[in-house]
Amino acid sequence: MLVTQEECRQWNEFLQYAEDKCSATAFENWLRPINVLEYTEDDITLEVPNIFVQEYLLDNYKKDLCAFLPLKGENEPAINFVIQKPSKKESKASPEPTKISEDYHPHFELKLNQQYKFDNFIEGPSNQFVKSAAMGIATHPARSYNPLFIHGRVGLGKTHLLHAIGHEIKNRHKHMRIQCITTEAFINDLVDSLRNKSIAQMKRFYRSLDVLIVDDIQFLQNRLNFEEEFCHTFETLINQNKQIVVACDKPPGQLKLSERMVARMEWGLVAQLGIPDLETRVAILQYKSEQKGVKLPQDIAFYLAERLCNNVRQLEGAINRLCAFSRLLGTDITVSLIEEYLGEMLHQVPTQKVSVEQILKAVTTVYQIKVTDLKGSVRTKEIALARQVAMYLAKELVTDSLTMIGASFGKTHSTILHAHKTIEQKLKQDELLKRQVDMVRKSITA
Ligand code: ADP
Ligand code: MG
Repeated sequence: MLVTQEECRQWNEFLQYAEDKCSATAFENWLRPINVLEYTEDDITLEVPNIFVQEYLLDNYKKDLCAFLPLKGENEPAINFVIQKPSKKESKASPEPTKISEDYHPHFELKLNQQYKFDNFIEGPSNQFVKSAAMGIATHPARSYNPLFIHGRVGLGKTHLLHAIGHEIKNRHKHMRIQCITTEAFINDLVDSLRNKSIAQMKRFYRSLDVLIVDDIQFLQNRLNFEEEFCHTFETLINQNKQIVVACDKPPGQLKLSERMVARMEWGLVAQLGIPDLETRVAILQYKSEQKGVKLPQDIAFYLAERLCNNVRQLEGAINRLCAFSRLLGTDITVSLIEEYLGEMLHQVPTQKVSVEQILKAVTTVYQIKVTDLKGSVRTKEIALARQVAMYLAKELVTDSLTMIGASFGKTHSTILHAHKTIEQKLKQDELLKRQVDMVRKSITA
């Protein structure tokens, strides 16, 4: 039997009961939006705006619901849930901008780092996915992934991307209310407003945002009371189809937070930032030195990038120091300047075990050609392949800088890189080549 809300006495009685039990806001946010679609003697079908409402209802009122509604077993109310489809108009439009409330307080002013924009975020395989997800969010808040959860180790660009989202939304959607805040600051705000008895004002402020960006959510761990408040804010916003973006140093599953909170974090898109590969590190170093108006030759950039492979912050630190020293001393950035002033920072490249000469010798044995051919510029197919194999193995096994390896072949570092890439690709399909490369490897180590 199809019923209207007014007609379903049992549900109405439950609502009246619940209204007395919970706060007015909770009632308006969680219970009021639920519709009764159908009611029979055996079960009730409820339409909920989203899964959170369904979970909220069962988490908080299961026992009470059993008292009012039909049962399908002991302590199990017979409820069928239907998730409301967003109406076309709603799903196409951006979320309704929230009216600026009188609660606005300069304390809550949006502070974004001017240096952290999409324009100066260097892209590479390690961060492409996260960057495009972030740009998607900034273009259409609350219409693609919600929440967006960005995680990755320290110094890989999480905060940079959060602020970039903030800037972009501010530019594209001028009416929207955004807050970008660290978890520490959120907790401090909460403590302050508890002290000043302005907690209601703070709650209203956060819950009236269109976009909430939260950095370093790992600091919410072991802060039980704050976690609860955060979780409420989070749910309220998601329920109103407002965008949330979160950054963290670990994936949601590794956070010591309540199951409920972790589930909320995993609800949207979880995306990881990795350590940039060599070429991206070179691009970052060159970009950052260019910004400082200092010339960083490409081979020097490679030399540095090969030895600095922790994170982007480390690359920045190195560039800052080198630029300062080179200005101070009035010299160019060179390998000896790097070794003198960054020595302790540089990644210890393992002591050299294999030399280019050893590789060349092994390649000539396997391919039955002369070393002079390999080092020369003869371009027959066979010799060209053997040469690329030698370069590939040199990059794999020799710990010199690419520039130095290149010099051993009378070529530049980019020729070595190109050869390495080519052979790497071919190895994926070419069994014969794979065997040849293995043979060379074996005869080097023999
Ligand atoms: P996290 O928040 O992950 O610890 P940050 O966002 O603070 O890292 O990044 C550290 C520094 O590195 C910042 O100055 C940032 O601008 C810079 N950075 C990180 N990734 C990139 C990138 N892909 N391109 C340019 N700069 C980057
Ligand atoms: Mg950060």
